[in-house]
Amino acid sequence: MKIADLRISHLRGVRPLPNLDARFRAHIVATAAGCWEWRYHLRTPSGYGLFQIPVESPRGPAWRTESAHRLVYEAIHGPIPPEVEVMHACDHPPCLRPNHLVKGTPKLNGEDRARKGRGIRGERVRTAKLTTAQVVAIRERYAAGLESAQAIADGYGLEKGETVLAIVQGRSWSHVGGTRTIDDRRRAEANRNTKLDADRVRAIRASRESLSVLARRYAVSKQTIAAILARETWRHVP
Ligand SMILES: [Zn+2]
Repeated sequence: MKIADLRISHLRGVRPLPNLDARFRAHIVATAAGCWEWRYHLRTPSGYGLFQIPVESPRGPAWRTESAHRLVYEAIHGPIPPEVEVMHACDHPPCLRPNHLVKGTPKLNGEDRARKGRGIRGERVRTAKLTTAQVVAIRERYAAGLESAQAIADGYGLEKGETVLAIVQGRSWSHVGGTRTIDDRRRAEANRNTKLDADRVRAIRASRESLSVLARRYAVSKQTIAAILARETWRHVP
């Protein structure tokens, strides 16, 4: 398979737009190491690629931010069951090469991470219900802004979304890595020091203008705009 053969426009729920596949492929570069690397500016803090796909919503045409490697996996293998994690055999988060993307359950992912020498402290606790790899995966999924804490909790058989919030904010499993999400109180303080508010954030998300144009208009950096669009920040604003 070649990069030119990748298609995502046929996925369920995707609104047909001319050149959608070509636009997706334009952000992928084959590397010397053999990976197909996502070079678009939308990424999670840990480097997983994000892409805004056009969808239909009850209010009409809309855009949804999706994980790029999961889009590729789904395009080739069909819908991804909730208990399945799509893992990188190459251990390179921005990679989209189909034969580097492998299916694992959170448990398998845990064994894989442990084999690669990542932390195991929490797993030694007999009562722990999660593996460290699951904790990292939970933090990355939440940081990507695609799912609610409760939706992630359901996927791991955890009763409460609050358990997931404690994990992503580092209040539990603090010895394990992954992307931490700032808690609401600290975020509110940080937001007071910016030129943004909920109305401006909504306007930025609804806009189809470029990052540069939006950054100039709101007098913030392009990274700030990208983080808003990827829902890494201002997650509490619908
Ligand atoms: Zn790869």
